[in-house]
Amino acid sequence: MNVAHLVCLDCQREYSLDDPRWRCDCGGPLDIRYFPVFDISNIWERPPGMWSYREALPLKADAQMVSLGEPLTPLVPLKISGREVLMKQEQLFPTGSYKDRGVSLLISHLKSIGITDIVEDSSGNAGASMAAYAARAGMRCRILVPEGASAGKLTQIRAMGAKLQSVRGNRQAAADAAVQLADSLFYASHAWSPFFYHGTKTIAFEICQQLGWRPPEVLILPVGGGSLLLGAHIGFKELKQAGFISRLPRIIGVQAENCNPLARIFNSTDPTGDLPADFLPLPTIAEGIAVSRPIRHRQVIAAVKESKGAFISVSEAEIQGTYKNLLHRGFYVEPTAAATIAGVESFIRLYPDPRGVIASVLSGHGLKVQPV
Ligand SMILES: *Cc1c(COP(=O)(O)O)cnc(C)c1O
Ligand SMILES: [Zn+2]
Repeated sequence: MNVAHLVCLDCQREYSLDDPRWRCDCGGPLDIRYFPVFDISNIWERPPGMWSYREALPLKADAQMVSLGEPLTPLVPLKISGREVLMKQEQLFPTGSYKDRGVSLLISHLKSIGITDIVEDSSGNAGASMAAYAARAGMRCRILVPEGASAGKLTQIRAMGAKLQSVRGNRQAAADAAVQLADSLFYASHAWSPFFYHGTKTIAFEICQQLGWRPPEVLILPVGGGSLLLGAHIGFKELKQAGFISRLPRIIGVQAENCNPLARIFNSTDPTGDLPADFLPLPTIAEGIAVSRPIRHRQVIAAVKESKGAFISVSEAEIQGTYKNLLHRGFYVEPTAAATIAGVESFIRLYPDPRGVIASVLSGHGLKVQPV
């Protein structure tokens, strides 16, 4: 890997990659500027999974890698409304969600710059993943969750030795409380850290590799903060820049109708606009995507636009129906994962005969939640 920098998306100011900061001095979110390298012969020699693309991940020394053996998740075909869709089984990660892709790289980076104490806010899965990788790295970890987070996720976080704190109010209240602690503990936010989505980008590498180094035509993803979507988009772009693929897939972002700020902006008359100040989310059973004020909203909307994609919103009734249906077809996932597939159903209804490969993901395991 060549020299990489942190760069502010708002004011373009650059910082060293080793600078222990979670945002720019101007308050803007950071990205990582560098040119990834792909070495095919190395990829084949390594165990399959995200770290087989080692040269494309911004971490200097192999010795700093914090891994729990992230698998190359299977792409399993599933018929949806008569159309075959390839489902990436992201619920099969060590802590039960795709978050492990981002957290494995983020914790590796934090370890490499000497961080020993972290704080993170989460609705559950990111916290569980942080707790696991912090434990693996020997770091102290504090997780702030909103009231009403799934009991199974809280149990998981506590069991791995993280300090768990419940914050009154919604997901945003937990994020605000974490920022308050950021003076004394490193704010290892999966929403703010660009290392997180440079980890999740490996989903794009894997899908292309599994399809014989071809991208799917359409990729349908859940969107809360958008870190999986951003990662996927960047991953496909890096593969295109490296000459492995010749086009990007259309990326369709799925949000819960009850909490869909990005879908609203995207479909509004001013898609470059800010989040509406008066936006009031309603509760949703898709707790993993209930993010009312996504930090990287401009970046996520630009990514969907560049891919010639779209946003789809799904109702609680649709999520519930798809959830039951997935369970009865043998896919033991959480309701948030079902929201994505409800979006796949809508997509196929809207575009009955799309050409080419449609891929999507099952983002979280069902064992953490009580089926409803
Ligand atoms: C975090 C999460 C998502 C959404 O990810 P974002 O990066 O916030 O868009 C989707 N599904 C599950 C199960 C999650 O845990
Ligand atoms: Zn800045």
